[in-house]
Amino acid sequence: QRFSSAEIKQLETLLCSLIYPLKNATAFRQAVQMAYTDPLTKVNNRTAFNDTINREYQLAKRTGRELSLIFLDIDHFKKLNDTHGHECGDVALASVASWIEQALRGSDIVFRYGGEEFVVVLCDTNLTGAAVIAERIRKEINTHTLAYGMAVLELSASLGVSTLGPDDTTATFVQRADQAMYIAKQSGRNRVVQQ
Ligand code: GH3
Ligand code: MG
Ligand code: MG
Repeated sequence: QRFSSAEIKQLETLLCSLIYPLKNATAFRQAVQMAYTDPLTKVNNRTAFNDTINREYQLAKRTGRELSLIFLDIDHFKKLNDTHGHECGDVALASVASWIEQALRGSDIVFRYGGEEFVVVLCDTNLTGAAVIAERIRKEINTHTLAYGMAVLELSASLGVSTLGPDDTTATFVQRADQAMYIAKQSGRNRVVQQ
């Protein structure tokens, strides 16, 4: 049944009223997206990490599912900045972020924790499984080269892995991955340590 011209007019009026709330909703969604994204690497930022880790922690506690973390810090990154400039450092950061994503499964989420540090949250994954993925990330970073002007740069990263234990708080869970990463640094860099 066709709309009458009066109905069409009424619909047009209603659509005009709808356009502003719709625009607001879209703008709000974009704002939320931006608030959770790191502009340089386009991965999730620290705010997104804090939300995600709290949510996944509660979920894992309630359901008994496994949850693991990978903490990653690029090796000797200051030297790269000092030798080739900050712009080169920025390109390297974005490249490392995309190499990490390439090494991950769809269900794993990567975050820029700060500076040259990244975290990966792995749901339904135990310590051994997370260490395998961490090793895959390490290799992905170490086997790529980065062309910057005339320079060909090689990068490496140190990674720490932890899995959620029964006595963990979110803080102790994150700290253990961070500590494992520091052990990886101290024991020679470009390696994975799990604890
Ligand atoms: P280590 O192997 O012990 O981790 O050494 P490192 O040089 O990587 O560590 P350090 O903490 O001394 O240096 C980190 C550097 O990362 C210093 C800082 O200028 C640089 N950095 C942090 N954020 C950014 C960024 O957004 N862009 C660029 N270009 N550099 C950044
Ligand atoms: Mg660091
Ligand atoms: Mg570093």
